[in-house]
Amino acid sequence: MSLAHGRPYLAIPGPSAMPDRVLRAMHRAAPNIYEGEIVEMTAQILADLRRVALSSGHVAIYISNGHGTWEAAIANLFSRGDKALVLATGRFGIGWAEHARAMGVEVEVVDFGLQTPADPGRLEAALRADTARKIKAVLVTHVDTATSIRNDIAAMRAAIDAAGHPALLAVDCVASIGCDEFRFDDWGVDVMVGASQKGLMVPPGLGFVWVSDKAVAACRGSDLATPYWNWNPRIFAEAYYLHFAGTAPTHHLFGLRESLAMILDEEGLENVWARHRALAGAVWAAFDAWGQGGDLGLNVADPAFRGSSVTAARIGGGGAARLRAWAEQKAGVTLGIGLGMAEPGTPQAGDFLRVAHMGHVNAHMTLGTLAVMEAGLKALGIPHGEGGLGAAAAAIARAAV
Ligand SMILES: *Cc1c(COP(=O)(O)O)cnc(C)c1O
Repeated sequence: MSLAHGRPYLAIPGPSAMPDRVLRAMHRAAPNIYEGEIVEMTAQILADLRRVALSSGHVAIYISNGHGTWEAAIANLFSRGDKALVLATGRFGIGWAEHARAMGVEVEVVDFGLQTPADPGRLEAALRADTARKIKAVLVTHVDTATSIRNDIAAMRAAIDAAGHPALLAVDCVASIGCDEFRFDDWGVDVMVGASQKGLMVPPGLGFVWVSDKAVAACRGSDLATPYWNWNPRIFAEAYYLHFAGTAPTHHLFGLRESLAMILDEEGLENVWARHRALAGAVWAAFDAWGQGGDLGLNVADPAFRGSSVTAARIGGGGAARLRAWAEQKAGVTLGIGLGMAEPGTPQAGDFLRVAHMGHVNAHMTLGTLAVMEAGLKALGIPHGEGGLGAAAAAIARAAV
């Protein structure tokens, strides 16, 4: 028998659960894109995008997904033959490096593997070795969605400064913006990329690039920037359509206006971070208990280096793939696939999954997901320690004081 009939729940790391309010805000007639409401609303959105990143710099909006923002950042940061230093902690860091290489940038990857964060000491050493100062920027992922590793961005800035190197610091926050604490100004970030469909709770289709004054000045002559991807006309738009190099993404903007109000003006950014941290804590508590009695566990050992928006885990013997199928077919919950953790097609590929807790997610949604997972472990006969759900409930009880 299947118990999946009812409202399905997508617990994958993007697209995330969206508020009905956001969807309703998009359900309307097309607006005039030359004057009136949308022009004023966009000015407010740009100001609020700076608030959500704690940035006093600039924002360019693209009609793209996260991969598009990678290319936007690369196109503006580099000229052909410039060098990028990429700190990789999972599939998304590797992916950003591949895009840079394909665009004609010389790329050096420092790979920290799939379970440990980027080490500031190795970053400093790599920059000190660059005596010719060829490295224009350091690219790093804040939370790598494949591994759920969260990197210490302030420590990366400190390492760049300790090396006395002029490299810009560019950070991929697609999985963390609106979920995990991020401080663009305070952490000395120069460029940051994000997208609409994760913590910002809007359908996929909007990409954002935040840029410091320093990065605007340092990248003015970059010869990879084609007219569409060039951030200058978008940032310093003298006419409304220049913000988007053409027609505005009208309905996405109406949705974004609503979600930014919910995050910044209603719940509050710090409360949003705390909610995501608490939900993550419930997932971690469940896995810690389950792992006492079976071949399963979290990917990242140290909680300080785990993202708040997504949790990567291993269930041996192909258990992750079987649990994902069970949860979807029997209980209406879709869990995330493992990404970049094992060669596709090998038996190990079925050992990894991800639980997302990003966006419009509350305690009952995450506890419900964990309850479904525990039911699935039992139904499938996958050995696991007892008490996972109790531990998750206790973590929520501790957090919700
Ligand atoms: C989701 C994600 C991307 C890619 O975003 P798309 O919108 O799927 O192109 C890039 N980086 C990180 C860290 C992500 O989580």
